[in-house]
Amino acid sequence: MMTRSYQVCTRCVMDTSDTRIAFDVDGVCDHATDFYNNVLPNWHPDERGAKELQVIIEKIKKDGRNRDFDCILGLSGGVDSSYMLHVAVKEFGLRPLVFHVDGGWNSELAVHNIHVLVDKLGLDLFTEVISWEEMRDFQLAWFKAGVPHIDIPQDHAFIATLYKFANKHDIKYILNGGNISTECVRNPMEFFYYGTDMIHIRDIIRRFGAVEMKTYPFSSILRHKLYLRYIRRIKVVRPLNFRPYVKAAAVRLLECEYGWKSYPQKHFESRFTKFYESYWLPERFGFDPRRVQFSSLILTGQMTRDEALKRLEKPAYDPSTIAQDIDYVATKLRISTDELNHYFTMPKKFYWDYKNQEKLFNAGARVLRAIGLEASIKR
Ligand SMILES: [Zn+2]
Repeated sequence: MMTRSYQVCTRCVMDTSDTRIAFDVDGVCDHATDFYNNVLPNWHPDERGAKELQVIIEKIKKDGRNRDFDCILGLSGGVDSSYMLHVAVKEFGLRPLVFHVDGGWNSELAVHNIHVLVDKLGLDLFTEVISWEEMRDFQLAWFKAGVPHIDIPQDHAFIATLYKFANKHDIKYILNGGNISTECVRNPMEFFYYGTDMIHIRDIIRRFGAVEMKTYPFSSILRHKLYLRYIRRIKVVRPLNFRPYVKAAAVRLLECEYGWKSYPQKHFESRFTKFYESYWLPERFGFDPRRVQFSSLILTGQMTRDEALKRLEKPAYDPSTIAQDIDYVATKLRISTDELNHYFTMPKKFYWDYKNQEKLFNAGARVLRAIGLEASIKR
């Protein structure tokens, strides 16, 4: 890879730690340009969006009339999915199947938040518990592979479980808390590779796995994206994009109405994700995911660039407790701290060092975008 001089965007806080970033003559990055040119003109979190959403909600209700559930929603306990559930039930009057994937790393806060929501809304919770022996070995395989995207075992289990339940209960609509407001800047592909590339996943398991994956839920993109979405017509709806969504206000509402408790950072509902995003990724790979999160908030007017830069001066992890966190992760994975530190210092690898279907995935994304089925750009 060519080395380039350090540069940070003049509009947001994305910088050259995202190695494929491009800047225009004014020093504005391609994330920001893409947001202003392609996302903002098509984003209507106002009356127009409200009307469009109303039509979608009525359709979901109508299609779900004789079913046990009219939609499905995965609850991580994080802000977006928690708020999404509140809105779906309290405001829209929908009847979601609510599921949670327990991969063994739930923080106590997440468990608390999931339960206060489900209890107060009077819903059943479908919990998919992943075999810890398999999960542990699967996660270790990613550490051994030396790649940055070690969160795939958690991410993939979530996606596979989502489609498994949707298929099993014949549910036609997936409610997704994903949103432009807090996620308009995308994570760079080099650090967050596709979690559904089964060729890639199988290659990592074949090389580094030690335990047979008997019960872990796998789902190939061919099955869930093409078969379930385009043949069985299961639709993904992102209601938060049709209305104003301000993170701080959502947190306040959840705290007041449910006794929900906030996290110090996005994705901290999983202890593993917290470790990975606050420590492993910035310290081993030099990429801090807060740049993506803060940049999204800056572009949508929820944070100033100055505040973001100030917060980025300090690490995302707490230096006084990080040694305990490292111990926790090692102990949980049943390896020594030395072994974990060995993975930390070993040569860096990326998805391109292993079998992958990036070209096919990118080509597929281009086709879906060209025929108007997908809007988002991932690079
Ligand atoms: Zn930018």
